[in-house]
Amino acid sequence: SAALPDDFGREFITLTHQTLSGAAEALGDLDRRAGDGDFGTNVRVAMKGAAKNIDDDSPSTYRQWVTAMYMGWLGVGGTSGPLFGMFFRDVSKAGADDSAPTLEQFAQALADGQATVQKYGEAKVGDKTMIDALDPAVTALREAGSSDPVQALAAAEEAAIGGARDTAESTAKRGRASYVGDAAKGVIDPGAAAMALVIGAARAAAAG
Ligand code: ADP
Ligand code: MG
Ligand code: MG
Repeated sequence: SAALPDDFGREFITLTHQTLSGAAEALGDLDRRAGDGDFGTNVRVAMKGAAKNIDDDSPSTYRQWVTAMYMGWLGVGGTSGPLFGMFFRDVSKAGADDSAPTLEQFAQALADGQATVQKYGEAKVGDKTMIDALDPAVTALREAGSSDPVQALAAAEEAAIGGARDTAESTAKRGRASYVGDAAKGVIDPGAAAMALVIGAARAAAAG
């Protein structure tokens, strides 16, 4: 089985925090064009909550780091708060209590997170949601098996970016974006874009 770096949790969550905070404005713009406009605020509130949890709890293990992130999301409204919260909660359960997961365990946790989001959100692939980035990433990791983690996660990131990009061609069937229908044609789904950034953070964390 392919090992991830010992500090994978810290790097994954620090980079997720950085990249989502930096993209909040642009993600908000996408939601203004393709939804109801609150996603940028929801991302900012989630990242503020995550930062406070990190400050308060001084996480050391992978599980503690990802827990700080999922608790941040669970404190946010909208559809994305609970869905990203439940997603990261499943991701936090990868591997043992006190060590970084292997690539296979991390990949399985992403797949579990996808199943949970689809169970509660009822989105299918092609509905113009975060699932359109997550599903191809999970598939890419399954196909990569126990190869080099950086290569496997780079393939997952590429698949997630491609999936997110393709949401521009589809019409939303879930969440507030479904109210604007075809007006969102040509606009990338912000949740899918955010999910691609999360997978990119994992790739960068694996590279050490
Ligand atoms: P809301 O749609 O309630 O305003 P946000 O703006 O916080 O929620 O989040 C929007 C993002 O949430 C969308 O871009 C989409 O990726 C994701 N999303 C919305 N509904 C669902 C769903 N049912 N399943 C999966 N993801 C969803
Ligand atoms: Mg919204
Ligand atoms: Mg909303």
